[in-house]
Amino acid sequence: MSQSRGLLVVLSGPSGVGKGTVRAAIFEENKYNYVYSISATTRKMRDGEVDGVDYFFISREEFENLIQEDALLEHAEYVGNYYGTPIKKIQENLEAGHDVFLEIEVQGALKVKERMPEGVFIFLAPPNLTELESRICGRGTEDEAIIFERMQKAREEIEMMQYYDYVVVNEEVDQAVDQVNAIIQSEHLKVDRVVDQIQRQIHDYFQKGE
Ligand code: 5GP
Repeated sequence: MSQSRGLLVVLSGPSGVGKGTVRAAIFEENKYNYVYSISATTRKMRDGEVDGVDYFFISREEFENLIQEDALLEHAEYVGNYYGTPIKKIQENLEAGHDVFLEIEVQGALKVKERMPEGVFIFLAPPNLTELESRICGRGTEDEAIIFERMQKAREEIEMMQYYDYVVVNEEVDQAVDQVNAIIQSEHLKVDRVVDQIQRQIHDYFQKGE
């Protein structure tokens, strides 16, 4: 069968739900060779992060240039910093047949859905809000005002779940990873995604016989 276009996979959900942990676990084994879309951000680098691996850490001015040049699939301002998804690599990888994996917050995910509705949109939900709050506090990198702001935002974001295709509850990381992989692999088998290729094969086969 000829190479088909890759899938655009968007993993999203409220801050503190564990998107980064689930994504890291998926890429640690990366059984299915997904390509991670590295975002650009204006926030400061945290300990242990690497420029060009975790994010492209850039200035506000550089970020605004990317917006002007229309180089971003989406961008959002989140707790005072810009975050955005560079579009070029995504298009190249999808065309080459690779599944491209985005891990972004909810506003951005909904913008991606407007531009690329054929993507697979997965909402990562917390088991409950108390657990979410303790995960936000447990990070130890944010002060109280930011925690409060993030909980308010989480509430609004959880209401956006209805616009997604799937929900995975992040109770156990390993289970969440398995469920995300299962969703992506099942999406590849959807009739709409394979019908053209199969029709083409049938067409070629019978043409040869004529
Ligand atoms: P953090 O600063 O903790 O790394 O990320 C804050 C939030 O920004 C997380 O919810 C993360 O998923 C989200 N994020 C990371 N990259 C992007 C991006 O390119 N676009 C958008 N809209 N959100 C992003």
